[in-house]
Amino acid sequence: MSLSLKQEFENMLTKESRLAIELSADNAMIFGVDIYLIGGIVRDFIMHNKIKDIDIAVEGDAIEFAEFLSSKVRCRIIQIQENLKTAKIIFPSGVEIDFASTREEIYTGSGILPKAHNFGCNLKNDVKRRDFTINTLAIKLTDNKKYELVDYFGGYQDILNKKIKILHEKSFIDDPSRIIRALKFKERFDFEIDEKTYNLMLQYLKIPDKNMPLERIKSEVKQYFSIDKEDIYERFIESESYKLFCDNPVQVINKSRLNEIKTLNIPEKPDIRFIYFVCLVINSDYTSLRFNLTAREIKIINQVREFLFCNTEKQDNLQIYKSYKDADNQAVLIYYLLSGDKNVIKFLSELKNTEILTTGKDLIELGFKPSKSFSDIFDLILKEKLDGKLKTKEEETVFIKNNIKKESE
Ligand code: ATP
Repeated sequence: MSLSLKQEFENMLTKESRLAIELSADNAMIFGVDIYLIGGIVRDFIMHNKIKDIDIAVEGDAIEFAEFLSSKVRCRIIQIQENLKTAKIIFPSGVEIDFASTREEIYTGSGILPKAHNFGCNLKNDVKRRDFTINTLAIKLTDNKKYELVDYFGGYQDILNKKIKILHEKSFIDDPSRIIRALKFKERFDFEIDEKTYNLMLQYLKIPDKNMPLERIKSEVKQYFSIDKEDIYERFIESESYKLFCDNPVQVINKSRLNEIKTLNIPEKPDIRFIYFVCLVINSDYTSLRFNLTAREIKIINQVREFLFCNTEKQDNLQIYKSYKDADNQAVLIYYLLSGDKNVIKFLSELKNTEILTTGKDLIELGFKPSKSFSDIFDLILKEKLDGKLKTKEEETVFIKNNIKKESE
């Protein structure tokens, strides 16, 4: 039975997007290749979700087709990826379309990026390489505007049944990042992971020492944690999928502290995705995580560990200020989340922006000889300022005159 998605095509896309797709389809017929809307866009049509990207599979060479299209129609190629034979095109209306040559993929090891081959293969062989049945759907565009659904793996019914299903038993072995993708789609759409798929997922997670590259995993973990939903972290822990890359994550995140840091009035807002990530890896030896962490990410993790390790009682505002002033804001926030140390809130909301207005030059003008003791003098002023006793520069000057002796005196 054939199913037309003409209505969705007409109602869910902007006029500009429809025009760009129709121009692509007309020219594909002239060029002599079949093209298809593919993957997420088709899934989102059926689910009546907002359409984000327009992906088109070309049963031929997508780069050659994009070059042909841009020679016939007002549009421009803005990106080409030779190795995967893909091309991105932008139309004067601003609509962008990603064209990808159909291809097959061969996995040479678990988690290792697959080798692409047989470019321009038929669509059925292309969709075989995809992650879940719900992402294998296509709409043929070179078919005189019938917009019929092409469904080789029962993805349409799986969308109706809200099921996430892999295509073959080795799927997670080929690409373990699919485990996190499954969780992402489950959370995003409120779907269930199909029982067999779920069991294969658990089976994979039980394999010890999964020595695989984590590049794809890192990007999927980030996307998973972009979902703004209650208890998203705890469900990730429950799924045990953290076992792909670490073994001893923080189990529960304190909700009221999380809300507190989300609503703090500070210039650099907490990076929630990264905060969750740190909670996963904070207790692991991150050098063995193969995550390709950036220098800043490593610095933040080290600082949080240091704070947790040296959590000594702070005596006064000056000590609090000095403990956190040179640290990365995100590290301070994560430390608070994990420790509940209220000094952090005091630092961020009251102390952080404290500035001494007196300069070294001012001290010289007041008769002090330049020396190392200047830093002690500044500490004395800073302490008073942090305690709220001095506000203006004049008050600082009076304080210095009344309280600090010159060496010669
Ligand atoms: P969204 O962009 O809404 O997150 P999407 O399905 O478009 O969803 P992408 O990550 O952009 O997701 O991937 C595009 C398509 O590529 C998917 O629909 C899927 O068919 C395929 N794909 C992506 N990642 C994998 C993977 N790890 N294994 C197999 N196929 C994948």
